[in-house]
Amino acid sequence: MTAKGLRWFQSGHPWIFSSDIVAKETNEPGLVTLLGPKSEFCAQALYSPHSKIACRILTREKETIDRAWWQKKIGAALQKRRALNVPSNAKRLVFAEADGLPSLIVDAYGPYLVVQTLSAGLEKFKETIFDILKSMIDAEGILERNDAPIRKKENLPLIKQCVAGEVPKQTIIEESGLKFAVDLWEGQKTGAFLDQRDNRIFAGFKAEGKALDVFSYEGWFACHMAKKADSVLCVESSKKSAERILENAKRNGLENKISVETADAFDFLKNADHTGQHFNTVNLDPPAFIKTTSERERGYRGYKEINLRAMKLLKPKGTLITSSCSFHFSKSDFEGMLEEAAHDANVDLNLIAGTGAALDHPTLPQFPEGDYLKCYFLAVAARS
Ligand code: SAH
Repeated sequence: MTAKGLRWFQSGHPWIFSSDIVAKETNEPGLVTLLGPKSEFCAQALYSPHSKIACRILTREKETIDRAWWQKKIGAALQKRRALNVPSNAKRLVFAEADGLPSLIVDAYGPYLVVQTLSAGLEKFKETIFDILKSMIDAEGILERNDAPIRKKENLPLIKQCVAGEVPKQTIIEESGLKFAVDLWEGQKTGAFLDQRDNRIFAGFKAEGKALDVFSYEGWFACHMAKKADSVLCVESSKKSAERILENAKRNGLENKISVETADAFDFLKNADHTGQHFNTVNLDPPAFIKTTSERERGYRGYKEINLRAMKLLKPKGTLITSSCSFHFSKSDFEGMLEEAAHDANVDLNLIAGTGAALDHPTLPQFPEGDYLKCYFLAVAARS
């Protein structure tokens, strides 16, 4: 590795980029030893020959990486989750780098596990990992959801298959007293957006009056909000998700409070603004508008537009709940955008809470890439 690579490595970051690798003894994906510019031992890592992220560090020690090592690391991740008392049976058991298990995701949906191995280096160990999960967790089935497009960057095939027991198309999970259907084989990510759980629960405490949930997916925010609000209008562009919102509403006896508009959020917000509609609570949880740095300007405009419209739609003393899951849109970018939108909407913002992903998605200070989700709860008041 280069001297620049070594400085980066010493900062504690768990990745080494291909541009910092000067010589290789092998081009095979899998476990490698990472050496510094003077051929000194630095770490043991997972190597990906086709990705810009060439090495993902497993350990900075000279320990043996065998089945027992994987078992110990997975065991530690499970132990961490037990201590959290997550208020749901849908939870993240392993969150990749944050658990010292780079590119490995393990989510539990009730008795089913959904696993992703998202790098070529880790792919070599996936059978061992499935086997360890089988032995450590009494799951009814394990689903390999390796259909994430990010695997293409690793030159890995997209795979979706049951690797243990049986995995049904759908299961019902419980999240803080509410029940939701999860399409294990087809749902977004590993089936649902588990990272927003704690924010959904808090939104359930903060929502009131007439509420609006924009980019609803399957209505999980909406159901939480409807516990306290008088009504929740969901805006979602996917017809299939829109149908699922109504099913989830019914499942929780909230069908009288929740309605859905299958529409483009930008069109809906513009029209609602022009026709003078007003809400007490607005939740915005869009998909990532900025996936690469080149999308920053367009994405910024997108975030500003929806937040500006939402601020204008709020009744006096309304609450805005607004999220961004774009890593390339930092906390300060997001806050700057909110300030600009507030200025244009002629409102003042008072921060109720600024949060991130749910507690079972821990973050490491030396790995900002894992800290992608931002969520702000804001009291919005007309500027005097
Ligand atoms: N709040 C959800 C997750 C939202 S994911 C939860 O907590 O589970 C983003 C959702 O926005 C997806 O369901 C996607 O279909 C929808 N979406 C994406 N672009 C949209 C657009 N332009 N208008 C409306 N919905 C959109």
